[in-house]
Amino acid sequence: MATLTVSAADEKRVKALGFLSNKGTDNFSGRIITVNGKITAEQHRRIAEAAEKFGNGSITFTTRLTIEVQGIPYDKIEDFRAYIREAGLETGGTGSLVRPVVACKGTTCQYGLLDSFGLAEEIHRRFYEGYHTVKLPHKFKIAVGGCPNNCVKPDLNDLGIVGQRIPQLEEDECNGCKKCSVEKACPMGAAKVEDGLLEIDKDLCNNCGRCVGKCHFDALSEGTYGFKIYIGGRWGKKTAHGQPLSKVFTDQEEALSVIEKAILLFREQGKTGERFAKTIERLGFENVEAQLLADGLLERKQQILDADLHTSGGATC
Ligand code: SF4
Ligand code: SF4
Ligand code: SF4
Repeated sequence: MATLTVSAADEKRVKALGFLSNKGTDNFSGRIITVNGKITAEQHRRIAEAAEKFGNGSITFTTRLTIEVQGIPYDKIEDFRAYIREAGLETGGTGSLVRPVVACKGTTCQYGLLDSFGLAEEIHRRFYEGYHTVKLPHKFKIAVGGCPNNCVKPDLNDLGIVGQRIPQLEEDECNGCKKCSVEKACPMGAAKVEDGLLEIDKDLCNNCGRCVGKCHFDALSEGTYGFKIYIGGRWGKKTAHGQPLSKVFTDQEEALSVIEKAILLFREQGKTGERFAKTIERLGFENVEAQLLADGLLERKQQILDADLHTSGGATC
C-alpha cells in the first residue's frame, strides 16, 4: 500500500471544503454542489474536463444530487476548485450544517404543483449559502418535492416541503351524479358521492389536485396551490418518517420562514450530536410545531446565531 502523506488535520480541513479522502490513498473526491440538481451543458463540460485534468477521469453522482470527481491529488485541490469556479460551480456539502438541497423535477413534471427547481434554488441561496457558517448539532437535510407522489422522499429528510393543490368544491354546483368524474379521477379514494353530493375525506385527501377541473358541471374547477412541510425525517443508521405540520401554507414566504425557524430551533434547542428527529422527539412535536408557527425564534435570531454552540457537531461525512 502507498505511504500516506496527508495529515489528519489537512484531511479534516479539505473535508470541510467538500473533499473526501479516497480510502488508502492521498487522493480525494471533490463534491460539487448542483444547487437544485440542474446544471448547464457548459458546467457539465467543465466538470468532465476537470475530472480529466485533475482527477482520475471518473465522475459519480451522489444520492443527494451532488457530483463527485474522484482521484484528485491533495496538492491539486485548490487548482480544481478554481477551475470549476470559472463555470460558477462550488464544492462543499459536508459537516454539521445545512446540507445541499435536493429537489425533484416538479418544474417540468406533469404532476408538479410547484416550481421545484426555483424553490430549491431559493432555499439553497437563503439556507445553504446563507447559513453556511452556522454550526448545528448535526447535518440538516432539506428536500423539495413537486407533489404528493413524493419521488424525492421529502418525509425522510430533516425537513421536506411538498407541493399541494387543495381542491375547492362548490357544493351548490354538485348534482350528485351516479358516475362522478371527480370520484373516478381521485387516486386516493378520498372523493366519493354520498347522499347525492360529492364529499372529500380530508383524512384521505393528499391535496394532489388531480381532481381539479374534472367535473363537467364546474363543481370543482378551482384548487389552491400550497406547501406541506414535514419535519424530523431521517434515513440512514436510524430511520424516521417526518411528520407534517398541521397547516398547509399557501404563501411561499411563510413556508420559507418556517424552514428558517426550524434551523434556528435545531441550533438553539438541539443537543450536539443529535439529529432533528431526536430533538423533536425530546421536545415533543406539538411544542416544536407551536414554535415553528409563532414568531419567537425569528425574534431571537441574532441571539441564536451569536451563541457559542455545537463547535463539533455529529456529522461524520
Ligand atoms: S414528486 Fe411529483 S412532481 Fe416530483 S417528480 Fe414525482 S411525480 Fe413529478
Ligand atoms: S362533482 Fe361534478 S361529476 Fe361529481 S357528482 Fe358533483 S356534479 Fe357530478
Ligand atoms: S386532491 Fe387528490 S386526493 Fe384530494 S380529492 Fe382531489 S384527487 Fe383526491
